[in-house]
Amino acid sequence: MKGKLIIFSAPSGAGKTTIVRHLLNKYPDKIEFSISASTREPRGEEVDGKDYYFISKDEFLHKIAKQEFIEFEEVYSGTFYGTLRSEVERIWEKGKHVIFDIDVVGGLRLRSKFPDQALSIFVQPPSLEVLKDRLRGRGTDSEDKLKERFAKAEHELSFADRFDVILKNYDLDTACAEAEKLLLDFIDKD
Ligand code: ADP
Ligand code: 5GP
Repeated sequence: MKGKLIIFSAPSGAGKTTIVRHLLNKYPDKIEFSISASTREPRGEEVDGKDYYFISKDEFLHKIAKQEFIEFEEVYSGTFYGTLRSEVERIWEKGKHVIFDIDVVGGLRLRSKFPDQALSIFVQPPSLEVLKDRLRGRGTDSEDKLKERFAKAEHELSFADRFDVILKNYDLDTACAEAEKLLLDFIDKD
């Protein structure tokens, strides 16, 4: 089996995590989540080693120096996120495809590193206003963090056309059904 990458990117609040979780629950034998490393604090119910590898900035910088990342990004000022080479290899060795929830710049970078194996999907909210409502409604970020995420979101929405597919996340059930179809079509191909 040739291991593939299915990349979900979008501004924070668009619904990537919700859609990716749906796919993971439905197709646990086919796909596994690439757990990124991050220097941010765990949020809500998040678990270390499941949602992220929560590590210190020193540890993150050490991993950069040792070239352990396929891509990494200072997504928010002072907060780093990165995809570990060991994660992708671990999942492929199990005979599964890898599913990612990463920011738009990281998503495009990853796509360009695996041109024959990756599908990049941009999750599009109905509008910037709806995105803000969703992010606020999630109730996991402080007012400062929300402002930082809102400020980045408008710029990130302009990246949609650079992705292989734009997945509209207006109605969640419709978006999940469409995501399933995209996934199955892509992994069944050659
Ligand atoms: P992201 O991972 O892109 O930051 P999340 O998956 O955390 O986004 O979704 C942000 C918030 O919006 C969550 O509270 C989620 O339940 C909600 N949400 C996601 N998709 C929809 C949708 N289609 N309609 C309404 N709310 C949604
Ligand atoms: P959050 O703090 O909301 O979990 O994530 C913030 C942003 O960082 C999201 O857009 C998320 O997709 C992105 N992100 C998570 N992991 C990675 C990663 O490994 N690399 C990059 N470039 N972005 C990531």
